[in-house]
Amino acid sequence: MRIGEFFVGLGNDFAALSPWGAMAWGLLFFTSIYVVFCGGNWLLTQSILPALGLGKRIDPRPLRDGQLRDELRLSAVSLLVFGVGAVLPWAFLRWGWASLAQDPGALQIAVEVVVLLVWNDIHFYANHRLLHTKALRRFHQQHHRSLVTTPFATYSFHPLEAALLGNVILLPMLLHDFSFAALLSLPVCSLLLNNLGHSNYDYAPGVGPNHWLAASRRHHLHHACYHGNYGFLFNFMDGWFGTRLPDDASRAQLEEFRARAAAR
Ligand SMILES: [Zn+2]
Ligand SMILES: [Zn+2]
Repeated sequence: MRIGEFFVGLGNDFAALSPWGAMAWGLLFFTSIYVVFCGGNWLLTQSILPALGLGKRIDPRPLRDGQLRDELRLSAVSLLVFGVGAVLPWAFLRWGWASLAQDPGALQIAVEVVVLLVWNDIHFYANHRLLHTKALRRFHQQHHRSLVTTPFATYSFHPLEAALLGNVILLPMLLHDFSFAALLSLPVCSLLLNNLGHSNYDYAPGVGPNHWLAASRRHHLHHACYHGNYGFLFNFMDGWFGTRLPDDASRAQLEEFRARAAAR
């Protein structure tokens, strides 16, 4: 069976589920990718890459007491929001508001994946800016409690933030009959790349600040400085709206920490 046919079948099976089945499917799907990607990236950045001498930690400050426990607790709630939220794309399919492509070629799937990734950055930027407004900032402070980020902070949100970010797939589904493979690729790529951003690890110190692998440096600056660098994987939205932080924006904080640590 071709891989494309496999995903067409998977999408049709998903649409045929009961609403409870769709929620359970969503919960299992999001929990699986969270455990695999966040756990894998934690191992990679805590043990494997440092042992191999590849890349380096970005922010040397220690984690807050109980930080990992809080990130896992909030992530569990986000997984519940995302899982239950899977009933919305399911309902769109059942109500006929959206359909799945039944014979997508490799090129169609590839173009859809790229379009959804770019849309994800636009959607993330808009919602992230909203979450930094006076009215909504209190719903974003849970995420920013991770001053020094970890891969487990990737889904560490207030439930409202999880609902805002989790609806990214709905508008595109209304506008175009996507392949199920491309629709599934969005949360997978989004988590993978968001994980990169929260890893507090510079995977490729040799690349420039605009490189996609420098996303972890850029998002570290967002958590360290709070204002600026609101984008996701790419930084074109920050460029257009003039919200890019200088590459050394956290230098004073980190130097102060290192000086205090050396004086101890
Ligand atoms: Zn923020
Ligand atoms: Zn973040």
